[in-house]
Amino acid sequence: MSELSLHIPGIAGGTYAVLGLGRSGAATAEALIRSGARVLAWDDSETARAAVPADILVNLKDVDWTGIDALVMSPGIPHTHPTPHPVAAAAKAAGKPIISDIELLALAQPQARFVCITGTNGKSTTTTLIAHVLKAAGRRVEVGGNLGQAALSLAPVGIDGIYVLELSSYQLDITPTPLADIALLLNITPDHLDRHGGMEGYITSKQAILRPKGKSSIGIVGQDDAPSRATFTALKDQGRRLIPISAEKPVTNGVYVDKDGRLIDALKGASVTVLDLKSIASLPGKHNWQNAAAAYVAVKALGLQPEEIVAGFQSYPGLAHRQELVATMGGIRYINDSKATNADAAEKALACYDNIYWIIGGKPKEGGLAGLEPYYGKIRHGFLIGEAAAAFFKQINRAFPTTMSGTLEKAVADAHALAQREKKPGAVVLLSPACASFDQYPNFEIRGNRFRALVEDIAGRKGAA
Ligand code: ADP
Repeated sequence: MSELSLHIPGIAGGTYAVLGLGRSGAATAEALIRSGARVLAWDDSETARAAVPADILVNLKDVDWTGIDALVMSPGIPHTHPTPHPVAAAAKAAGKPIISDIELLALAQPQARFVCITGTNGKSTTTTLIAHVLKAAGRRVEVGGNLGQAALSLAPVGIDGIYVLELSSYQLDITPTPLADIALLLNITPDHLDRHGGMEGYITSKQAILRPKGKSSIGIVGQDDAPSRATFTALKDQGRRLIPISAEKPVTNGVYVDKDGRLIDALKGASVTVLDLKSIASLPGKHNWQNAAAAYVAVKALGLQPEEIVAGFQSYPGLAHRQELVATMGGIRYINDSKATNADAAEKALACYDNIYWIIGGKPKEGGLAGLEPYYGKIRHGFLIGEAAAAFFKQINRAFPTTMSGTLEKAVADAHALAQREKKPGAVVLLSPACASFDQYPNFEIRGNRFRALVEDIAGRKGAA
């Protein structure tokens, strides 16, 4: 066994069913086999089945569950709502545990420390920020889970190491062991309700991250929405520390960001200013202040000094496709926010800028642009693309001027030409489409990469001229 690969102790000779053979399922099958278990693997898609050796493929719908220890499921497959996958239903009827790859990682690395992050929004930003700050301070860190690498393809970290894991509500649902030494619950707003049988089910799934691992484990809980505040109140007296964080108002014995963007450490009662978050270009907007406050508490709890934390924040490169600054030409910034696939996410970007040349459209979501009206005064011009263009044109109702660009290529060229002609102070060309990408692109990453390439192409030509 390579010391770079995880070994799960105590499962040799056991039999595990693995349902779903995407990134995490394939890594799970591999880790189970490496650890000496027998694996029966299945995916309803033939393409996905090609990810594992043919000799472990068994259609789990026809299997006798008697000798099987557990079902390891991909988090994307429903096991309760709206209707359980038949394999999950059969495993449950046979009394078999349904678990995630995260549960197996906890089993494999009991001596490591786990920082686990969930929330409706900001998970990836907070996860990568924490991992970056820890690495910059010289800590041994592996980062993955719902983002990047699957849990069981991460390297073992040993006794001094730290796993920083982004966890979705789906993953939490099938991870029965409380594994977080430091658990972060950023925020809870309605999302994925069909999978959780409503808001209450969704909240319960998110709260699972805060189950105490032991007295020294800590929970970090956002205070900027009602369900998170209620969670804090309900769980704060369970014998381990829960720490409040806020991007909106002072909190007692916690960390908050004041209205001017200063990160304030009030963990010990007195308020101490840590740094001015407005100076961190990779964390624009109030929503990122919430992420920064939460990340600060997590790394401080792991023993980092304030200077190390500030240095880590300052060198954080930011995440692609989330208000990513691609280029600045003639004082105008070109920003890729392709991840904004709904109006809620686009709002976060619109709040950050003035004189916006806004590229919007794609595959529309319910409600379209509803809720964004208060920002219309900041928009110089809209460039409409994709399936949503005609409906958006109607919905905008000439509140600001628009152009029917149709494609991203045309929209970037149109927005660039107009923005450079007008040269408004602080202007931005912003792709924040408030739509899914599926009408024109396989996913938001490819859409964002295309935007970046188009902008870099203009910047290159400009540089050469
Ligand atoms: P997730 O991994 O939870 O989807 P990301 O960090 O990838 O979150 O951010 C996705 C989008 O959500 C960002 O582009 C931004 O618009 C918005 N966002 C980020 N952090 C927050 C937050 N703390 N609260 C609300 N919205 C946020």
